[in-house]
Amino acid sequence: MTGAPQGEGDAERKMRFLYAIRSHGVTDRRVLEAMEATDRGAFVKGIFADRAYDDVPLPIACGQTISQPSVVGLMTQALEVGPRDKVLEVGTGSGYQAAVLARLARRVYTVDRYRRLVREAEETFRALGLSNIVARTADGSFGLPEQAPFDRIIVTAAAEDPPGPLLAQLREGGIMVLPVGQSDHVQRLIKVTRTPGGYEYEELRAVRFVPLVEGLAQD
Ligand code: SAH
Repeated sequence: MTGAPQGEGDAERKMRFLYAIRSHGVTDRRVLEAMEATDRGAFVKGIFADRAYDDVPLPIACGQTISQPSVVGLMTQALEVGPRDKVLEVGTGSGYQAAVLARLARRVYTVDRYRRLVREAEETFRALGLSNIVARTADGSFGLPEQAPFDRIIVTAAAEDPPGPLLAQLREGGIMVLPVGQSDHVQRLIKVTRTPGGYEYEELRAVRFVPLVEGLAQD
């Protein structure tokens, strides 16, 4: 059930993992290095652990999913993160996307509406020695006003439209990447750039994400 060739060792699996990401169009060397350095296996628990290096989304706790690695790569590449950037991620989930971003940015703030996911992600960040990530339980559709503005914002759950507070918390010249569209349909990944005069929108590709849900969750 692993989808991997039988007898494949760790090194081969990781090579296949990077090959899948590259073949989907992730060519930015810094992004590839950040993904090579971030062990996805640390973010996938239980029965799905042996599929951590397959290019597929996988179930995590609270009925959520860890995104497909090639989609993580494409979103990270589109975000054009620099080493001085302060980044906001909405939708911590397993923490994998935040961990990849943390290797490229100065600091990453990540929020999720599930306290449990935030707690577990924090444990994983600690175990991996990633000290420039701040995780919070919050409704990310309102952003994180006390830390705004952000150089980069990434949303890993789909809203029907880009949330107004997130557009407002993007610094001039900043970039936001997010899926938009109805949750039970194919959504579009878009890149928003804040210009001196307003916002520019670029459509990247079709994607499928869990919905951005209002309010904090129970667990
Ligand atoms: N980036 C994650 C995958 C995210 S799945 C990873 O790398 O594993 C989407 C996440 O968005 C879920 O964990 C879900 O709880 C969260 N989410 C949905 N609506 C939200 C909201 N309004 N505020 C914060 N998080 C939200």
